[in-house]
Amino acid sequence: MTADGREEILTGIPGSPGICIGPAYLVDRQDFDVVDRYALDQGEVAEEVARFKKAVRKADSELTKLIKKSPKEFSQHAYILEAHKALLHDNALYGRTIETIKKMRVNSEWALKTAVDRVRLVFSRIEDSYIRERVSDVSHVYNRVMRNLMGSQDVELDKINRRVILVARDISPAEASQLQLEWVMSFITDLGGRTSHTSIIARTLQIPAVLGLSTATQKIRTGDIIIVDGAAGVVVVNPDDETLAKYQEIKDRYEAYRAQVARKSHLPAETRDGMLVAVNGNIELAEEVVAVLDLGGDGIGLYRTEFLYLNRRTLPTEQELFETYKDIAEILNPRPVTIRTLDINGDKVASGIMTDEGDNPALGLRAIRFCLKFPEIFKNQLRAILRASAYGNVRLLIPMISNVEEILAVRRLIAEAADELAANQEPYSDKIELGIMIEVPSAAIAADLFAPHVDFFSLGTNDLIQYTLAVDRGNKHVADLFSSLHPAVLRLLKNVASVSAKHHVRLAMCGEMAGDPLHAPLLLAMGFTELSMHPRAIPTVKNTVRTLEMSECKKLFNRAMKKSTCGEVRDLLESFSKEKAAGGQPGANKP
Ligand code: PEP
Ligand code: MG
Repeated sequence: MTADGREEILTGIPGSPGICIGPAYLVDRQDFDVVDRYALDQGEVAEEVARFKKAVRKADSELTKLIKKSPKEFSQHAYILEAHKALLHDNALYGRTIETIKKMRVNSEWALKTAVDRVRLVFSRIEDSYIRERVSDVSHVYNRVMRNLMGSQDVELDKINRRVILVARDISPAEASQLQLEWVMSFITDLGGRTSHTSIIARTLQIPAVLGLSTATQKIRTGDIIIVDGAAGVVVVNPDDETLAKYQEIKDRYEAYRAQVARKSHLPAETRDGMLVAVNGNIELAEEVVAVLDLGGDGIGLYRTEFLYLNRRTLPTEQELFETYKDIAEILNPRPVTIRTLDINGDKVASGIMTDEGDNPALGLRAIRFCLKFPEIFKNQLRAILRASAYGNVRLLIPMISNVEEILAVRRLIAEAADELAANQEPYSDKIELGIMIEVPSAAIAADLFAPHVDFFSLGTNDLIQYTLAVDRGNKHVADLFSSLHPAVLRLLKNVASVSAKHHVRLAMCGEMAGDPLHAPLLLAMGFTELSMHPRAIPTVKNTVRTLEMSECKKLFNRAMKKSTCGEVRDLLESFSKEKAAGGQPGANKP
């Protein structure tokens, strides 16, 4: 209980939506933040290295066992555990720890901690929040080896046998794989961010989760009644009767709403006056295709392909990429799969091609800039994508385009890749559509110059907003300035939309903005005919589209464009949505 048993509200980061009310179960676990250092005699060094290697071998076999006994809900995420196995032997951890033990004649724990701290530092400087949060994988691997070195016990989550809400400092993928879903209704953690694996897992398992609460494990004890509001990122500890009743009502309404939306998620997203919108899913892994289809997605609007390049020592082969892409294309056929080429910094690829990413990686050698600098790596991926295009409706999407020369260079490399395939008699479709992400202001402003060279635009609002508003998308200190409804953002989107209509370039959006139903009327009014989002947002957005009429969307859009602040635009959209929900005639007769 909280110290005085009174209701207390904790605010964190929304991990996975849904409301859960129930007793807490605190996972108490040793952390290894402070580690003693002690010196070894020369004669003890070999033995110490052997002790470290033994702890790593044990960690490896623990992970192998966990992978084998992963429940089926988790099977698609067993790759994370495989990645942990690879990390165990990564030179930056394994090699460096052994080197430190030998060179400095110190104990394994201290040597390992030094190696891990170094890796953490490198990760913390990485711009891309998805990649930056992979530091948690390093921490999980570190904790596992450390536990083995110190002889402490692993937490046994598979022993839980009553319905609880798990409260932990962090939940590693290995621990998540042991969760018994009939008992664990939800989880909350002190650490973790929106794109951490923990939150990805919670969304996959479809249980409510709140992360990044900082003090949950200090404030909550096993048995406390807590409420988890996964969408709002709020946890209420020891709720009073009034709060309990309020949340019970929200929970009932939410569940009824989800059931209703889910029932209709396979219907097309067509406005009341017949405008059809493709509602697609964003995925990072081939396994997520099934979720997109289950949730009624019309295709894949963004397949982020970085994952196959991370957490490994060597680059993926063309054949490995091809097989993955082909599987996806075949499952979805005739629905489209939009494969985005590598959006990565030099430091995120295998060690052999490390580059100095500079002090400001978001403005550095990222995405297409990296690929054009390393054309062989790029062509390897292009050939794989082209080959997959023979098996389904594959589209090619290029990230971070900021000038026309880059598109011309991409076209040249596509032609070369195609020639190489032809020479080897490998089949591919020569009708593959080429699109560019519009996520850099230069591309949004000068879209008319880019349009003649491409088949479609896909608006990457996550980056477009970051670059337009000069707000680091991963920096929590300026998070309140990151707004999709900033008048400058709306004007840029409108410009791209007008250009695409004029040049007959298909208009799609795959940034987070597309997955918020509040934005749907504005996006429809601008002419977006394809919206791509996190799979779980698909049913709600489809449902919203079905309630709209183009004439009311356009009126709303015109009013929004007259507003001068994000707050005013948001108020306008919120009152439209409320009136709509109440069955009124929003926007009618208003200036
Ligand atoms: C974007 O920038 O909006 C986008 C969809 O790409 P990512 O989030 O992968 O940078
Ligand atoms: Mg982007």
